[in-house]
Amino acid sequence: MPKLYDNHGRIINYVRLAVTDRCNLRCFYCMPEEGIKYVPQKALLTYEEMERTIRLLVSMGINKVRITGGEPFVRKNMMDFLTTLSQINGLERINLTTNGTLTAPLIPDLKKLGIRTVNLSLDCLDKARFFEITRRDEYDNVMHTFQQLLSHGIETKINAVVMEGKNIDDLIPMARLTKDNPVSIRFIEEMPFNGEGAHYQKLTWNHKKILAHLKTAFPNITKLQDPPNSTAQHYQIPGHQGNIGIIAAYSRTFCGSCNRIRITPKGMLKTCLYDDGVFNIRDIIRSGASDHQLKDTFLEALGNRAKDGFEAEQKRSFGLPITESMASIGG
Ligand code: SAM
Ligand code: SF4
Repeated sequence: MPKLYDNHGRIINYVRLAVTDRCNLRCFYCMPEEGIKYVPQKALLTYEEMERTIRLLVSMGINKVRITGGEPFVRKNMMDFLTTLSQINGLERINLTTNGTLTAPLIPDLKKLGIRTVNLSLDCLDKARFFEITRRDEYDNVMHTFQQLLSHGIETKINAVVMEGKNIDDLIPMARLTKDNPVSIRFIEEMPFNGEGAHYQKLTWNHKKILAHLKTAFPNITKLQDPPNSTAQHYQIPGHQGNIGIIAAYSRTFCGSCNRIRITPKGMLKTCLYDDGVFNIRDIIRSGASDHQLKDTFLEALGNRAKDGFEAEQKRSFGLPITESMASIGG
C-alpha cells in the first residue's frame, strides 16, 4: 500500500467525509436555534463525486474513512453509498458519527457492511436537559440507538461536548456508564464552531478541568496508553468495563500526530479542522480534471499543511474569527 505524508512527516491515512450539512437536531454548541443556511443541493458533492474522491485517496494511502455530517442519515440513499464504500479495496475501516435519532433500525445492515465502530453523540442522561441542548425531543430514540449498538456488539463511543451551565452534572453519571458497558465515553472540549461565534470569552471546561472533575468522584481513575494518532487521552476507572476519553479539541494538544484530513459537504478539503478550506474538490472535478490532476492537487495541499491548529487558525483568510457550524465541517 502506498503511504501519504504531509510536509511535517506526519502520515495521513484517515479522511472524515461530511456527507451533508443538514441535520434534524439543533445542538446548542453546533448551530443556532433557527438552524444554519444550508448549502444548496446542487453545491453538495454528489455520491459519485464522493466515491471517486475516496477511491483516489485510498489509492494514495488513505485506509480509514469516517462518515459524518450534519446528520449522515438525513441524506437520502445513505445506505447505498455506504454499501458502495464498503466495496472499495484497500479501505480498511468505515466508521460513522451519528446523532442516533434515525440510526437504530439501520444497525443490523450497518453491521453487515462491516461497520465495527460507531460514535454516538449524547451529551447528557436526562431527557429535559437533552431537549435544552439539542432543542428537539429525541432522547428516547437516541437511547434506543445506544442500546441497539451495544446489543449488536458494535464498538460504541459516546461523544459528549462539555458545556458550562448545560451538562456538568451529567459528567459523572456518564462516566459511570462505563461500569457495566463496554463503551468509551469521550468528553470533548467545546469549540467555537457553532454558527454564531464563541459562546465564551475563555474556555472554562478544558481537558485539565474535566479530568479534575472526574477525579472528585473517581480518585483512582488511571491513565491508559493511547492508541497511535488518538485525539483522546484515555482513562479507566478500576473495575469498569469501558473507558473514558478526554479530547482537548480546543486546547489542541494532539496536533503533532494528526493523521486526518476533512472533506466538507460542499467539497472543500480541510487539512486542519481550524483552517477555512484549502481547495474545492467539487470545483476541480466539475472542471473536468483527471484523477492525475486531482491527485497532484491533494499532494500540493498536503505539502503545505499547517503545523498545528493554532497556525491553521491564524492563517484563515482575512483573519476572520471562527463562526461556521460544525455541521458544515463534520467535527
Ligand atoms: N450529527 C452527527 C452527530 O452529532 O454525531 C455528526 C456530525 S457532528 C458535527 C460531529 C461531532 O461534532 C459530534 O460528536 C458533535 O458533538 C461534535 N461537535 C459539534 N459542534 C461542536 C463544538 N462546537 N465543539 C465540540 N464538538 C462539537
Ligand atoms: Fe446536528 Fe450533530 Fe450538529 Fe447536533 S452536533 S446539530 S446532531 S450536526
